[in-house]
Amino acid sequence: MTLKPTTRTPTTHPAVPTAKVVETLGRVPPPWPTWINVENTLRCNLECIWCAQHLVGSTRSGVDMPLALFDRIVDQVLPRVSRLSFSVAGEPTIAPHFLDFLDRVNTLDITTELVTNATALHRPGLLDRLLPRLGLLIASLDGARPETVERIRAGARHARILENLQRFQRARLARPAGSRPEFMLAMTLSTANIDELPDLVDLASRLGADRVACCWLEVLDPSLLGLSLHAVPDRVEERLAAARAMAVRRGVGLDLPGEPPLSPRQDPGAAARRVLSSLRGGARRRSALRAALARAAVRAWELRSGLGARCSFLWGRAYLHAGGAVSPCCVQGRPYVGNLHERSFEAIWTGPEMTALRVGMFDGAPHAACTRCSQGQGPVPAPTDAWTAPARNPSDGQR
Ligand code: SF4
Repeated sequence: MTLKPTTRTPTTHPAVPTAKVVETLGRVPPPWPTWINVENTLRCNLECIWCAQHLVGSTRSGVDMPLALFDRIVDQVLPRVSRLSFSVAGEPTIAPHFLDFLDRVNTLDITTELVTNATALHRPGLLDRLLPRLGLLIASLDGARPETVERIRAGARHARILENLQRFQRARLARPAGSRPEFMLAMTLSTANIDELPDLVDLASRLGADRVACCWLEVLDPSLLGLSLHAVPDRVEERLAAARAMAVRRGVGLDLPGEPPLSPRQDPGAAARRVLSSLRGGARRRSALRAALARAAVRAWELRSGLGARCSFLWGRAYLHAGGAVSPCCVQGRPYVGNLHERSFEAIWTGPEMTALRVGMFDGAPHAACTRCSQGQGPVPAPTDAWTAPARNPSDGQR
């Protein structure tokens, strides 16, 4: 098998003339984003074999977001946002200021999400500060057996991770039913771990997690090609079938790539009771209301502009990096559209760089990263020869 070059693939939508899109975007500005990712650190305490940030060396750079920058984000951005997620480029829980960040967040009507390697959830004071606003915790495990987890997630201790997830589950259950965060385990599927997927679903059930979410390994370096599953479709189908059967037996939700989520059969009144119960918490109710208003604002934008919001990131999300850089997404080779040290977030969100990216969704000339991305390309998925090509943003390795 050989790496093929990335091909530039136009979007499958009919092109709209550039001048017409620019005029429309100037007349009908985009709604405020509803979901923000704050990269509170680039550092990580693990060296996962397929992690893009580890491969480019940024997890060893020691860069953390300064508290003063986070305070500016709290002032400028978060009061109008419903969902805040912490770093995707490093392990959020090990950053020195993380507890201070959580103290700030607990003064806002906002719901948080945390993707974590679960190695530091025992940090004193962390769960007490995290849980009041937490809506979702995703623990990346990438395997069920200790030797698999410790081989893929180099530096991890499986026993410590399980202890921490049990600690989290106890703290979660101690909260009132309406303010309990969702609990998910995540697995990046590869030849190194696909055999253990049914066991991971079983482990999720024993830990009390709600769901297991999976994605395919994205091959970012030729050395990883042997881990890709695209050469063994029969093995994949057999393991996915076994995982689906386990999920049904254990009553655990399962999100497999390219399939509708599998949810356990529930008491028909349970979902309604959960919603009603969550509406009793003031901050959560206001955060949910803001999310609903944000969805309505995107729809209103579509109606007023006569255009569709073709990438949910360009119209509703932003990633705020440790050094102040802003990008609309975390796709490899993503564009950077400004820096919070130079301009306000509002100026960046409505500025020429973001406008150019949005225009590219309509005029048939998307940014190079967008051509490799399944967002914005209509019903046709990203080209299969594009995802094998390494795509690095040079600044990712430098910060
Ligand atoms: S790469 Fe482009 S299309 Fe994909 S999520 Fe980012 S901005 Fe949207």
